Order: sequence, then C-alpha cells, then structure tokens
Amino acid sequence: MDYEEEYEALVQLVAHKKSSDISIFLTSVPFEDNFFYKGQDNIYLVSLSGWHHLTDLPIANGIAYIITSILLKYELDVGDNHDVSTGCINDFMWDKSIIDAGMRAAFVCEHCRSNTKATVLTSKIFRHLISVLDIISTQSRRGHDMLEEIVSALPSLPGTAFDIFLCHNSSDKPAVRLLNTRLKATGIKTWFDEEALLPGQVWQDELERQIGSIGACAVIVGPNGEGPWQENERRVFINEFIKRSCLIVPVLITGASAVPTLPLFLQQFMWCDLRGDDGNQFDRLVQSIRMRRHISV
Ligand SMILES: [Zn+2]
Repeated sequence: MDYEEEYEALVQLVAHKKSSDISIFLTSVPFEDNFFYKGQDNIYLVSLSGWHHLTDLPIANGIAYIITSILLKYELDVGDNHDVSTGCINDFMWDKSIIDAGMRAAFVCEHCRSNTKATVLTSKIFRHLISVLDIISTQSRRGHDMLEEIVSALPSLPGTAFDIFLCHNSSDKPAVRLLNTRLKATGIKTWFDEEALLPGQVWQDELERQIGSIGACAVIVGPNGEGPWQENERRVFINEFIKRSCLIVPVLITGASAVPTLPLFLQQFMWCDLRGDDGNQFDRLVQSIRMRRHISV
C-alpha cells in the first residue's frame, strides 16, 4: 500500500468529521515497508497484514495494543522510540515479530514514564491507558481475547428492556423454550412471547412498543413448518429490525432440515447452527448479543 495516496484519501474521508479528536483506520493490506502504522495530524492508518504469522494471540489484543501505543506516543508524547527491544510499548517495531512479546509484557518503562510531558488531563488519560495495557498483558499471557473478557465482565444495564427478540414458528415452541432458558442463564434478556406477554396482550402491539430498544433478532429455524418468515406479520417485524440496523441472526435448532431454504433477505446474515453444537456456536451467539447490547447503548 502506498501510504501517501492512502493517507490523502483518508484525509478526505474524515474532512467533515471535525468532532473526532483522532481517527484510526485498520486494514489488512500491508504497507510497502511493512510497518504496523503511520499517521500524522490525528489520522492514523494501521495495517494488520499477516497477523497470524506474527502471533497466536487474538487480533483484538493487537488492535488494543497498537491503538494504546499510538495514543501514548503521539497524543501523550511518551518519549522517543527505543533503539533496541526492551519490551516497553515505546519500542520501535521495525521487526514486527516482537509484537507477541510486546502484548504479553504491555508496559511503559520507567525511562519513558519520566519523560512524559504530563498535565492534569494527560496524567488521567495516561493512567487509563496503563490500565488498558495491564488488561492486554494479563489476557495475552492467558491466551485470551481481551475484548471477550471485557464484554463478559460488563454488568447488564438497568433499564435495557430486552437484548434479543426470539422470532419463531409457534409449532417449534418446546425447542425455542429450551433455547430461551439457555440464553437467560447467561444473563441475556430475551423477548419470548410466552413470557413477555400478559394474558390478553397481543404480541404485535407489545413488540411494537419494545422494538426501538431491542438490539437483536434471532430468526429461529426449527423442525416445523417453513419458518417464521412465512408469516407476514413476523416478516414485517424482521424488516423493521433490518431497517434499524439491528443484529439479525438466523439460528438453526435441532430438527431443522439439513439445508434449510432461507429467503433472500436472510441469506446475507451470519448463521448460528446449534444442531449438534459442542457449545462453540452457542457461545458465539451469546458473545454477539452481548457486544450488540453495549454497542447499542
Ligand atoms: Zn520505554
């Protein structure tokens, strides 16, 4: 990637976003000189090219590490680059392979700390960034994805009514009931008609009231019937979720046919296949709902 040309394009892109203090763009395309990042005037371009050849650690840890490094070096003036590798985040990573050791160490050495030009504001930001480095270091040494750890640790937010609407064919109720119980056990707040409705309430009216605050919709494909999208009213709601940029996940549950036919408008979304799942697919579903919950708020 030719940096000068890409940089000019990015400047144009952020020109009308004057409210941003700093813009950081990520790409998988390598720079011509294979550096991790370059930038000026608060616009940075980060290349994560060939990440999995450099380390086994999750890319989320790397993104956090590089962003923290940019903020410390260029926004908080944490001294000059080290000429040799010390493990400090201020090492000059001409050899990208030291990123693995860097994430596991993730610290600012005493020399760099003493050189930092600190004001009251920057000292506060500095302390926060050091806390982020501590998380990167702890999670990297365990081989964990720091983002997943942080998201799992976040408490449910009071006042958030529901995380996900369980759109299903009513003939599949017993299987959906099981899925609902499993999701609730992880702290996910589900909108499941059987529980969400009081006697006499009409589901369409109640969902209409909630739809603005629900961030996700699971379109559950089970053993019975053609699927929930066949019912016009449910289809209208799914379209409404799509219009609001909610997370839409088609979920296959036990008994769904081997190759279910999905309507075109659902084919673009990421599948979750719980048939014969060893827990991995279910965990991913829970993670995406949790991520969505915190992005929406
Ligand atoms: Zn240092």
